[in-house]
Amino acid sequence: MIRYNLLCKKCKLIFDSWFASSKEYDKLKKKKLINCHSCGSLKVEKNLMAPRLISKSLTFSDEKKHVHKYQKIKKTIIEYQKFIKNNFDYVGENFAYEARSIHYNHKKRNKGIYGKASKKDLKELKEEGIDTHMIPWVENENN
Ligand SMILES: [Zn+2]
Repeated sequence: MIRYNLLCKKCKLIFDSWFASSKEYDKLKKKKLINCHSCGSLKVEKNLMAPRLISKSLTFSDEKKHVHKYQKIKKTIIEYQKFIKNNFDYVGENFAYEARSIHYNHKKRNKGIYGKASKKDLKELKEEGIDTHMIPWVENENN
């Protein structure tokens, strides 16, 4: 069953009517079996919703999709962070220094390191042949 909101073009009456399907509506319309409840006119059309309302609802679901996508990405990043925290040593601001000491002094570490580095640091490290990886980081209350 499908409910259509119908508009009589003659007397401007707006009323709801049930049909088995949209096909049935088209069939009845062709056979001139749909008429106005008030004046009996056959000039009855489906009353279209205001486009503004339609686009508003579209925007809303799009926004929901974006939020969902973002939350999925955030979840992945947090999982990644967990892995890094368990397998790497945090060296904070000393990242560039620690990275160099591993590279130049062959300083032995059981774990890799992670920490903060500026873009300039990363560029210099790269020029010195020290491989670093940038990863997205989510600051949260568990940090
Ligand atoms: Zn009417």
